[in-house]
Amino acid sequence: MNLCELTAHELGELLKSRQVSAVEATEAAINRIEAVDSRVQAFVTRTVEEAFAQARAVDAARSRGETLGPLAGIPMALKDNICTVRIRTTCSSRMLADWVPPYEATVVSRLKEAGAILLGKLNMDEFAMGATTETSAFFPTRNPWDLERVPGGSSGGSAAAVAAGEAFYTLGSDTGGSIRQPAAFCGVVGLKPTYGRVSRHGLIAFAPSMDQIGPLTRDVTDCALILNAVAGHDSSDCTTADLPVPDYRAALNTDIKGLKIGVPREYFADGLDPEVAAIVRRAIDKLAELGAICEETSLPHTEYALPTYYLVAYAEASSNLARYDGVSFGLRVPGRDIEEMNINTRTEGFGPEVKRRLMLGTYALEAGNYEAFYLKAAKVRTLIRQDFEAAFNKYDLLVTPTEPMVAFRLGEKGNKKPLAMAAADSYTSAVSLAGLPALSLPCGFSQGLPVGLQLIGPSFAEARLLQVAYAFEQNTEYHRRRPALEVA
Ligand code: GLN
Repeated sequence: MNLCELTAHELGELLKSRQVSAVEATEAAINRIEAVDSRVQAFVTRTVEEAFAQARAVDAARSRGETLGPLAGIPMALKDNICTVRIRTTCSSRMLADWVPPYEATVVSRLKEAGAILLGKLNMDEFAMGATTETSAFFPTRNPWDLERVPGGSSGGSAAAVAAGEAFYTLGSDTGGSIRQPAAFCGVVGLKPTYGRVSRHGLIAFAPSMDQIGPLTRDVTDCALILNAVAGHDSSDCTTADLPVPDYRAALNTDIKGLKIGVPREYFADGLDPEVAAIVRRAIDKLAELGAICEETSLPHTEYALPTYYLVAYAEASSNLARYDGVSFGLRVPGRDIEEMNINTRTEGFGPEVKRRLMLGTYALEAGNYEAFYLKAAKVRTLIRQDFEAAFNKYDLLVTPTEPMVAFRLGEKGNKKPLAMAAADSYTSAVSLAGLPALSLPCGFSQGLPVGLQLIGPSFAEARLLQVAYAFEQNTEYHRRRPALEVA
């Protein structure tokens, strides 16, 4: 049996019944990383020794007869903007290349308590700014389905590692699509939770009014399990909601009869690849066949979502990333005085995409520009949120393609063409502005490349999203396909 092809919950059963030990599972994952990661390039840091130490501790606890949770002994990995104590956390930036956080993200503490085994930290677009993982200061990650193509981003390493069998699940972060888009490109399940469902304590900020951490997994059951482990109120993050966390796994059933699903026409307009459109239409027919009532609807302010998202995200980034000044965190490049040191540090520490965004964000916040740009964007954001509120008065959830296209080639859109790149954010950013939960799951293949279906729900309706995703998954086979990464 090739352990690395299993889902996390399947491995969990083998661990529980002691057919496999945590050390064996860890060995399998590390062998797989050694076999394929020189080509996929998902990992920026590997934590082999720590992983084995954690695995031995789990095996010892199990042999003492302790009752362990469903994630105990399962190897996973984290996007490299999630803080880990004693393990460098780089944001794939020269600015933080050697930075070791003094504290640990709440999600990491929760997974550790659940017995998770950390294999390492995963590549991303620098400071989560991008949709291809090409803005990483280290190297681009590649799509396991076609190594000449991008895995998406910014959580490209997180999606590629799951698709390539290098980790049983991973965490990513999503500000404008960074979990859902790479999940779609790599053929895995990715969930951006409602804003406030999962703690951001220890997540390095990009645009904190939208940033959320969420799981990337091989199937929907795993997604429910991981969400259960990380969700819930955290006194270290005052934006987390003090609401009970449902048992997401118990909510999984295949009965979706009578559920009302809206299909917003703005997500099927010009710019959508015709083959992707046909695959998504077939997926919607499948939901109807399973008993859901699917109807066309409209989110009239959709066309304003992208410019609004960029204004809000860049403005927040320009203020958040001001902290990288050579004094408190990471890189310091000396100068004759403090100002020159600040300038030298930021000039060398940040890559071109980050600089472009910080300059535009600073411009949007300047006196005289603030009203015309940032304030206007904040108002349009309300209109976008109201579109969704109106839709959810009529529908239980909405369904769209996750992306208007399949994974493109490395270098095809690149940083020199920010407008061409923007298409990759066009179906995911409105949801982020509205703070809503959304899940991407595999719904077909176009020219051998995965296509993602996006389910969008009202706030805190993660259980409903997972249930509908589960119904679709249990009646289709797409989640069983694995990329043919020949082991050299
Ligand atoms: N691709 C989007 C961007 O470049 C989203 C990034 C994200 O969600 N972190 O801004």
